[in-house]
Amino acid sequence: MAGSRDIQEKQKNIGVIGGGIIGASAAFRLAQRGFRVTVFERGGWGAEASWAGAGMLAPGGEMDGDPALAALAIKSRQLYPQFVKDLIEASGRSIDFQENGALDVAYGDAEWKALQARADRQRVLGICSKAMAADKVKAFWPFLRTENLAGGIFYPDDALVDPREVMAALRIACERAGVAIELQSEIETVIAGETGASMQVAGGREVHMDAVIVAAGAWSSAVELHGVAPQPAAFPVKGHLLGYRMPDKYCQTIVRCGQSYLLQRANGLLIVGASVERAGFERAVRPAVVLQLEKAAGFLLPHLAETTPTEVWAGFRPGSDALQLGRWQGSAVYLAYGHYRNGILLAPVTAERLSTEIASDLL
Ligand SMILES: Cc1cc2nc3c(=O)[nH]c(=O)nc-3n(C[C@H](O)[C@H](O)[C@H](O)COP(=O)(O)OP(=O)(O)OC[C@H]3O[C@@H](n4cnc5c(N)ncnc54)[C@H](O)[C@@H]3O)c2cc1C
Repeated sequence: MAGSRDIQEKQKNIGVIGGGIIGASAAFRLAQRGFRVTVFERGGWGAEASWAGAGMLAPGGEMDGDPALAALAIKSRQLYPQFVKDLIEASGRSIDFQENGALDVAYGDAEWKALQARADRQRVLGICSKAMAADKVKAFWPFLRTENLAGGIFYPDDALVDPREVMAALRIACERAGVAIELQSEIETVIAGETGASMQVAGGREVHMDAVIVAAGAWSSAVELHGVAPQPAAFPVKGHLLGYRMPDKYCQTIVRCGQSYLLQRANGLLIVGASVERAGFERAVRPAVVLQLEKAAGFLLPHLAETTPTEVWAGFRPGSDALQLGRWQGSAVYLAYGHYRNGILLAPVTAERLSTEIASDLL
């Protein structure tokens, strides 16, 4: 039998601006707590960064500094198995989730020293790794370039997920949990109060919510907030990726070298990434960038030097000066953006934090 607390929760309306992995995960967790949730997405479901992302779940590859962010990343990585299990159960869809670790390789002494120094710094942050001599790397990853290979660092806890499959499962899981999904519905303005917020939907409709989450990725600061100070700026950091069709299980862990990485999804697609560009919201795929990535891929994995990618795409990572997560200035607006290179990884912890904070503020 539902208690009075549950009934109260059910009466609260939460509006989520943005149907990417951040908004969708938060919507799912809030609906599971009994809130009435509506996601407003100005385009298609999960069609922006959350479609473009490679899907590394990699504190080992990404965290080297900021202890608070590293702790959040480690926590989110720990939450992932349960997150995936919950989504599979709630949606009936399968999700490609591989907990096989990641290898960083170094060519030449300088790179090798830098890699070992980074691993030492990361150990202090709680990220474990294991140094591997060059002959071991050659034995386990025989397809990699061996010339001048100095060694590798293996990160056993890094993993990968197919974000497109996560988004497909999230859509069904959200709908089954009672989340209303409004596609092609852009939110232009939010008028924020302490106990509620009104949203202006493009076309003139106005809706009132008890709380509103801004999870509009790289576009999050384009949503006009009234009644509170403007939210911190969000900006796009464009990234290109290449996809190669390869035999199944060709590459069973993530492999990284400097700014380049390789990973293979269960559907056979081997992904090579990624560029990091401040190019505004220009969507075009740029041949010069593709060529650079092809060169990097051919360097690391010589077989790819004679192979043409079957897919090339680009997306906009949501940049910001810092991760924006939580209630904004004591109002009914909550920010959830600026996940930059790690939004796929950080989705479970973001959803958990937001749903806990909103439940504690609204009840
Ligand atoms: C090339 C590339 C590689 C990446 N690789 C990885 C990786 O390996 N691991 C990892 O963890 N992360 C990775 N990322 C980053 C990750 O993809 C993002 O951090 C994450 O997808 C952000 O999710 P989001 O929901 O905040 O944004 P998005 O997925 O961009 O979703 C925001 C949504 O808001 C909608 N929207 C915008 N304005 C409005 C409005 N006014 N009203 C309604 N809706 C609106 C948009 O249409 C969009 O669908 C990568 C990103 C790129 C581009």
